[in-house]
Amino acid sequence: MTPARVLIIGAGMSGLSCAYHLKRDFLLLEREGEPGGLSRSIQVAGFTFDHTGHLLHLRHPYTTRLVPRLLKGNLLTHQRNAWIYSHGVFTRYPFQANTFGLPRKVVKECVEGFLEAQMVHIRGRPSSSRISFHEWVLATFGNGFGRHFFFPYNQKLWTVPPHVLTAEWVAPFVPRPTVEEVLTGAFTDQTKAFGYNATFSYPQRGGIQALAWAFARRLGIRVRYHTEIVQIRWKRQEVVLSNGERLRYQWLVSTLPLPRLLETMEELPSSLRRRAQQLRWNSVLCLNLGVARPHVSDKHWVYFPERQFPFYRVGFSMNFSPYSVPPGCSSLYVEFAHSPATQLDRFQLFPVALQGLYRSGLLQRSDALRVIQWLPLPFAYVIYDRHRTPAVKDIFNFLRRQRIVSIGRFGAWKYSYMEEAILDGKATAEAIA
Ligand SMILES: Cc1cc2nc3c(=O)[nH]c(=O)nc-3n(C[C@H](O)[C@H](O)[C@H](O)COP(=O)(O)OP(=O)(O)OC[C@H]3O[C@@H](n4cnc5c(N)ncnc54)[C@H](O)[C@@H]3O)c2cc1C
Repeated sequence: MTPARVLIIGAGMSGLSCAYHLKRDFLLLEREGEPGGLSRSIQVAGFTFDHTGHLLHLRHPYTTRLVPRLLKGNLLTHQRNAWIYSHGVFTRYPFQANTFGLPRKVVKECVEGFLEAQMVHIRGRPSSSRISFHEWVLATFGNGFGRHFFFPYNQKLWTVPPHVLTAEWVAPFVPRPTVEEVLTGAFTDQTKAFGYNATFSYPQRGGIQALAWAFARRLGIRVRYHTEIVQIRWKRQEVVLSNGERLRYQWLVSTLPLPRLLETMEELPSSLRRRAQQLRWNSVLCLNLGVARPHVSDKHWVYFPERQFPFYRVGFSMNFSPYSVPPGCSSLYVEFAHSPATQLDRFQLFPVALQGLYRSGLLQRSDALRVIQWLPLPFAYVIYDRHRTPAVKDIFNFLRRQRIVSIGRFGAWKYSYMEEAILDGKATAEAIA
């Protein structure tokens, strides 16, 4: 094969999209034996599991045309049915717009704190780029919402205290209801849809990986699986594979997690090594359960802010597609976040998780589990602390000069979703072409 002008590392959504939009002169290298990265699916005993819920939030006109075309009609669209479980009751997502049903004291604290925060900020809102997430929550929603949802939930998800996080990532992920909406949602069961993911799509068959395969099938032999990059000799514009083979490039598009990319680059200047050490992230352990009972819940997913529950979210894949479970069965994914430096003890965690599922009524003690499967996600959420943005800026300035483009959720080191990965891949292909 003649050398490719562009080498792409990683066949996740961003690498696949970059290759698809380049059309020619590329070679896509993937360590695993199949495409998809985090957007892969696993079939076990008739159940289809993803690497925790992976739902398509398509808002851009381009992806809303491309994805259905690639999937050739293999796509279902849903109105989100997401909830929060706290104080022993389920309330609608988002918490800040739907306190109806919570104990009166909790509703009062949330609404009072919210109104106080609104009064203070009639004089001017703080910019989310300069303050901590803790300060941003107090200024935007007040102490009640902070104490009853934002602080405990985000501490559990990000694994660092809210004052360590910046507020750079909050748009579009945290909906901001108006005063009227907060009050309506405190006194009535408000069903209004909020946020970027109020509707979502999901493949009818094949799990989320159906989309990765739809891309990959169009790329033919220019994808090499079981091919791991172990070193990047950037001064010679060459990569070294685990089998010792060397490949030259004119452009290198990497979707590796940024710290891993920098580790593989030989002779990296020490200032950049120091920057790389400042990048922080969390890991997620996903517990997939196949349950021998139909319709264990009608919900799509539920958030758990309280510390008594070791997981931060539980979702129900059979409500994304009925074909993700065998007839008469249900399926749950249970998400636990942890620091990459600590491994969770699955034997200790499992009974505690089951107790939590029983206590919230999502499972019954009589439920038979047909499948119990653990999936570790070593890179899950990039931690936005005060070092992240200056470090990323310096690293990207350097990479650009070496004709290395680092894209995707972990390549660009950001909080993003599959649609953005597809658009990043397209934009990179166009810039290179
Ligand atoms: C818990 C969780 C839930 C999420 N839920 C959603 C959701 O509901 N909706 C949504 O849109 N997004 C969701 N996302 C985000 C989504 O997963 C990402 O935006 C998207 O999958 C990122 O794709 P990517 O190509 O950038 O990276 P990845 O999917 O990580 O792809 C990187 C690829 O590089 C390969 N690779 C790694 N090292 C090497 C090497 N040395 N050599 C060769 N190949 C290598 C990997 O095997 C992988 O295939 C979620 C993410 C997490 C963590």
